[in-house]
Amino acid sequence: MSLPDIPSPRPGPVAGHVYLVGAGPGDPELLTLRGARLIAGADAVVFDNLVSPVIVDLAPPTAERHYVGKKASDHTLPQGEINRLLVRLAQAGKRVVRLKGGDPFIFGRGGEEMEVLVGAGITVEVVPGVTAAAGIAAYAGIPLTHREHARSVIFTTGFLKDGALDLDWPMLARPGQTLVVYMGISRLAEICRQLIAHGLPAATPAGVVERGTTLAQRVAVGTLATLADVVREADIRPPALTIVGDVVGLYPRLAWFSPEQVDPLRHAPHVGCTVVHPEPDRGSAT
Ligand code: SAH
Repeated sequence: MSLPDIPSPRPGPVAGHVYLVGAGPGDPELLTLRGARLIAGADAVVFDNLVSPVIVDLAPPTAERHYVGKKASDHTLPQGEINRLLVRLAQAGKRVVRLKGGDPFIFGRGGEEMEVLVGAGITVEVVPGVTAAAGIAAYAGIPLTHREHARSVIFTTGFLKDGALDLDWPMLARPGQTLVVYMGISRLAEICRQLIAHGLPAATPAGVVERGTTLAQRVAVGTLATLADVVREADIRPPALTIVGDVVGLYPRLAWFSPEQVDPLRHAPHVGCTVVHPEPDRGSAT
């Protein structure tokens, strides 16, 4: 792939360094130019399951490819082994690109990996990526802030290390803000219940986006009262992102991305390109 020739004072990848690169939320075209340049010069690429194969393929054919997986309950390689692999590759003098879905520092364990690398005396550069919340909201036509609906936005996780869901519910349930929940799909019913119990109206618009920004994107919208049922009926599966707040009400008017209308020559085909638009449950308003 040829990249636009943007003058940059920074060098390409350097031997023995690790580059923590955000690969964006799915659509490979959301990768940064810095990320693409570093991958194209890598000796070794270490990547998760959320990274598009198109992006991994930007690495030279000679580069080592290490898939280290990672789904909520199916860690292909434990975090300690991933850390050791990165240290070993860097100490062998390779130019190492650690590719992570979205942004490395947003629910990506980039901080943990960087601490280990820095502790081992390895130089690390971090390249931000379009985090799932930003990319998916954009492709779904859900503005995360809006002067009439939300003056702040909160990113939280719905999956805690010990399985507990003891989040700061009063803070998450504040009106006038948008809440984005990463990794929360398996706990969706409980999350919606807690938000209602802590003061958000049951009629608050809420939606879930599966495989956002890809040709397999599916959007299911409803209210806090209906969302868990809507998502179960639509059989939405991870990776999926939940967005709660009045801004979700703009989705029917602002949705612009239609996987069916993307030029099939530019992207590999995906299955399940359905967009789900369930009727909001008007009877459940409180
Ligand atoms: N570092 C990543 C987040 C990793 S946590 C980032 O900045 O985006 C993984 C969670 O991100 C998933 O469980 C899901 O909630 C969300 N996610 C990532 N990619 C997604 C996608 N294409 N569609 C929907 N959700 C996605």
